[in-house]
Amino acid sequence: MKYIYGPVQSRRLGFSLGISLTPYKVCNFDCIYCQLGRTTVKTSLRKEYVNIKDVLRELREFILNPGSDNSRIDYISLSGAGEPLLNSGISSLIRGIRAITDIPIALITNASLLKNKTVRQEISGVDVILPSLDAIDKEAFEIIDRPGPNLKIENIINGLIELRKGFKGKIYLEVMIIAGVNDKLDVFSRFKQVISKINPDKIHLNTPKRHTSERGVLAPPEKILNKIKELLGPKCEII
Ligand code: SF4
Repeated sequence: MKYIYGPVQSRRLGFSLGISLTPYKVCNFDCIYCQLGRTTVKTSLRKEYVNIKDVLRELREFILNPGSDNSRIDYISLSGAGEPLLNSGISSLIRGIRAITDIPIALITNASLLKNKTVRQEISGVDVILPSLDAIDKEAFEIIDRPGPNLKIENIINGLIELRKGFKGKIYLEVMIIAGVNDKLDVFSRFKQVISKINPDKIHLNTPKRHTSERGVLAPPEKILNKIKELLGPKCEII
């Protein structure tokens, strides 16, 4: 299969069938913790990087194959080898998936394009959105996410707030915590205020795993993570 991978067991979504909406590795971020390696095409240009009709053909074949055990799949997740919202055909894809199966749809995104109302409308048909927010100030944003030009953290935060106002599904906000970079408790007191405006259904605290894009990108001690979790309240889980 070219566009579909899995299904795989995922910590956040259970048993998940992935669809990759960009070729390797088209993204408007170049996160130091990215498990895919360095971004090779850093762009915010939206276009149909992979042909939606081809993706839907592959999905149909997979789902209709009598050998596929679809009843075990918890979510079809839109993500892959880059930022899925860069694919301008995402709304046709979501409609096409709905016509093939009633398996819930999840979208994993770096949230950079959510400030755009058209983008928010395009993804309104998914069941759950898993956006990330690793920083609330410019300096940490640039160190951690290494965004492309014209991407401002305040616009991303506003996009997340607007998403919540209009989106009927669930929002699971992911925050990647990196030792020595964004693991200070006073930062998380301010983070808490921002997150309360976004009002996600869950907050997932994540930590860098193996194969990070840069060396020395490490998880903070468990004690610190637990303190951050406590500070952020009952919606927060360490994943
Ligand atoms: S946004 Fe996602 S795909 Fe892009 S660099 Fe960051 S972790 Fe990797």
